[in-house]
Amino acid sequence: MAKLVWFRHDLRTLDNPMLSYASHSGQPIYGCYLITTKQWQRQNHSPLRNQYVLNRLCALRQELHDCHIPLIVKSCDDYDHSIDELKALCLKLNIDEVLIGAEYGLWERQRDEKIRTELASQSIQLSSFTSQLLIAPGELVTGKGLPYRVFTPFSKAWKAQLALHDHPPLSAPNQAPININIDEGLDNEELARLADGESRWPVAQQQVLNHLSHFIKNKVSDYQQSRDFPNEPATSRLSAALAHGVFSSAQALYLLKQSYPNQYLDPKSGPGCWLNELIWREFYIQLLAQFDAISQGLTFKSETRAIKWDNNPQALSAWQQGKTGIPIVDAGMRQLNEIGWMHNRVRMICASFLSKNLWLDWREGEKYFMSKLIDGHLASNNGGWQWSASTGTDAAPYFRVFNPVSQSQKFDPKGDYIRRWVSELASLSPAQIHEPSDEVRQKLNYPLAIVNLKQSRKQAIERFAAQTKSD
Ligand SMILES: Cc1cc2nc3c(=O)[nH]c(=O)nc-3n(C[C@H](O)[C@H](O)[C@H](O)COP(=O)(O)OP(=O)(O)OC[C@H]3O[C@@H](n4cnc5c(N)ncnc54)[C@H](O)[C@@H]3O)c2cc1C
Repeated sequence: MAKLVWFRHDLRTLDNPMLSYASHSGQPIYGCYLITTKQWQRQNHSPLRNQYVLNRLCALRQELHDCHIPLIVKSCDDYDHSIDELKALCLKLNIDEVLIGAEYGLWERQRDEKIRTELASQSIQLSSFTSQLLIAPGELVTGKGLPYRVFTPFSKAWKAQLALHDHPPLSAPNQAPININIDEGLDNEELARLADGESRWPVAQQQVLNHLSHFIKNKVSDYQQSRDFPNEPATSRLSAALAHGVFSSAQALYLLKQSYPNQYLDPKSGPGCWLNELIWREFYIQLLAQFDAISQGLTFKSETRAIKWDNNPQALSAWQQGKTGIPIVDAGMRQLNEIGWMHNRVRMICASFLSKNLWLDWREGEKYFMSKLIDGHLASNNGGWQWSASTGTDAAPYFRVFNPVSQSQKFDPKGDYIRRWVSELASLSPAQIHEPSDEVRQKLNYPLAIVNLKQSRKQAIERFAAQTKSD
């Protein structure tokens, strides 16, 4: 008999509870990953994200090989096919237990329940662990026993619970070499071919951990002051690694606490402010786990479901291409289109612009972000979009409409971020670049603004107030 660790959003050997559990069983351990290309398409995953995962699998296979654990990678279209594939693999490898890290989207939860039933019919157990989060959904509840819907009390409860999770990260498993000759799934060359090019983001576990340590040692102290300036290399840029579980929030927390024992819980300090962002991630994932509306594309606040968004394909396309005539928005969208990542402050500005100034359905923005982001994750992407559109729980109030020009002046004062991504405007001075005159735009072949910011802000507030009805 043997154990099978089915990797999903926990592509690491360190601090991996499934591997740790399996290695204590004393039985042979196999790893597997099921590539579900059609499912990825259905869920709008970006080509860069897919490429990152496939490259990461090549690296993970080597890292597991160093622990004498083979990683079997198979292609199987979608979730329905993955059920049959997994069952067949278990029977072939004589597996008595499959170990998974819980996934929280509705479709993933439903898939796992079907698999549990299928495996049980063969007397194979499916055991689920918390690998994406430090604190599992449901562990933290309000005084009324309900899931938290508001961030601040959630983060307080989360921090209060930390003592229970205060242990060093789990080490890598060490299985004695086993003599296994498996002729299953894709080999390294086939995997690399499928990835179609190397990821521009580091994929090796040690490289990512070095990056994390470097950030915590050298950058996190300034995080609170610098994180909102998109042209500063002030944030960690670890979101893709976290989204795919190349390291865990427990590993990050452990390093943070070791380095800044007196500061890491204080949100006014750099380390504490960064921890808060990790907690936002945990907050959004626990919402995804507990409110099906998020997976179903519904707004979180039911009273906002009556909103009639405009249908304006030209405006949507201008936004997608970074040709709205609002420099900071165009810079952000072009950054996204080019490297699959956008700075958080600019994500908020672009999302507010789409949903408030253009009055377009935030789901169009959510979908487009997902189709481009390397760190695309349903929980955080949906959370960010519903926050910006004021339809989410604990969202920006509906009358808060970012003014992209003043945001740009404040957070990109010299215009360097705009200059970097909107090459037409590269010659402009800091005084001109945030809102060039019509003559300058014409000369530089840069579009006129597609919407009047002042008028559209006023209209958005009026429409939001008029169209939202309480239950
Ligand atoms: C409209 C919109 C869409 C977004 N979509 C995603 C997404 O698909 N995937 C994603 O990982 N993040 C998303 N975010 C959150 C945030 O923008 C990114 O996590 C962040 O920009 C990543 O950069 P970083 O790794 O340098 O972050 P850092 O500032 O170094 O933060 C550390 C980590 O904390 C987490 N984090 C930071 N800010 C947030 C936040 N506001 N919400 C949730 N987690 C956060 C991320 O895992 C991040 O890597 C979105 C935000 C908005 C406003």
